[in-house]
Amino acid sequence: MVEERSQALPPVRITGLVAAPLLGESPPGGWSNEIQPGDSIHSLVAVHTDAGITGFGSAFTDGRLAEAAMAQLAPLCLGENALEPERISEKLHQNTFWFGRGGTLTHTISAIDIALWDILGKVTGLPVSILAGGRHRDRVRPYCSLLMTEPGEMGERIARYREQGFRAFKIGWGPFGRRDDPALDEAIVAAACAELPEGGQLLVDAGASDAYWPNGLKWALRTADMLAAHGVGWFEEPLVPDALEDFVTLRRSARLPIAGGEVMTRRQSFMPYITRGAFDIVQPDVTKVGGLSEQRRIARMAQDFGVRYVGHGWNTALGLAADLHLAAALPGVDLVEYIGGSAYLDDLTAEPFTLDADGLLAIPDAPGLGIRLDPEKVARYAPRAAALFQRG
Ligand SMILES: [Mg+2]
Repeated sequence: MVEERSQALPPVRITGLVAAPLLGESPPGGWSNEIQPGDSIHSLVAVHTDAGITGFGSAFTDGRLAEAAMAQLAPLCLGENALEPERISEKLHQNTFWFGRGGTLTHTISAIDIALWDILGKVTGLPVSILAGGRHRDRVRPYCSLLMTEPGEMGERIARYREQGFRAFKIGWGPFGRRDDPALDEAIVAAACAELPEGGQLLVDAGASDAYWPNGLKWALRTADMLAAHGVGWFEEPLVPDALEDFVTLRRSARLPIAGGEVMTRRQSFMPYITRGAFDIVQPDVTKVGGLSEQRRIARMAQDFGVRYVGHGWNTALGLAADLHLAAALPGVDLVEYIGGSAYLDDLTAEPFTLDADGLLAIPDAPGLGIRLDPEKVARYAPRAAALFQRG
């Protein structure tokens, strides 16, 4: 069988891998130790092949960490057949067990894996969504993620993005839950609700993966009641990420869905949260967990346990493209995350993502990830852009 396959589609050998930090426009995260525009929190990865085809991926980590990880990972990839993303990603996981699995290495494997799926699609002429099992849908609703502010400004922000056609919004981080002021928290939510479009949806993200999150289960229970009263669609990261038992209790008690999982990596980390019933909605990040190969296994496991899956790969155009393909390839996916106002999402590609008249995003149908990076635009944010686009 292997012989027949290789005759039909000769191997495409990996000849080089490049990791490049994105710099200069890192969007604020609402973190208590706030991200500065000059910090690197995202990186791009290119995988070059002897067919002259390059695949691209991205990792949610400091680009300098991604470069160091790449020094470990590249020798394991060189000469491999790029058309076998799952096997190569597994090889990378297996061979880095001792060097900090689950951290930067796993984040960087994510970017390599996404790039390999991009190559597989470009070589076969198929979009990743087809390769991942087929397209349940051709478009999906992006929810616009916005940082929380004081109530007045919050309403204005929602209105600005509503005018751009968004129908679903998530607000989070900022002052929410951090000032010991339940009235302020409710005023922010009420201000956002007042500016929703007809039939619009509001989601709320406490952001308890922030450093020194001050609240626990009792706060989360009280706040869940307040959010349910305002018709909020889900309550995200209301507890520190490791509080598994409290998540289980909260999910059982809360009158609105509980979401989380964006900082976890590797499918094995998700297993207790999914099997114990910690989340109504799981939000793995394709640029952290191990790429498309790992993400679809997590999403399928979640769905088999009756847990909704919504991707969190909003952080670059490549992460969003990967999320869009999985949103097509899995049943029952109705949302993807979309950060409002980030250059790394809106200003890296030749053609920008655009909402249609219904406020939906088309799932790309061109080969691979189906988006084209613009080398000149990428060069504005990645000092090593030339190496990403070099052939060979
Ligand atoms: Mg979040």
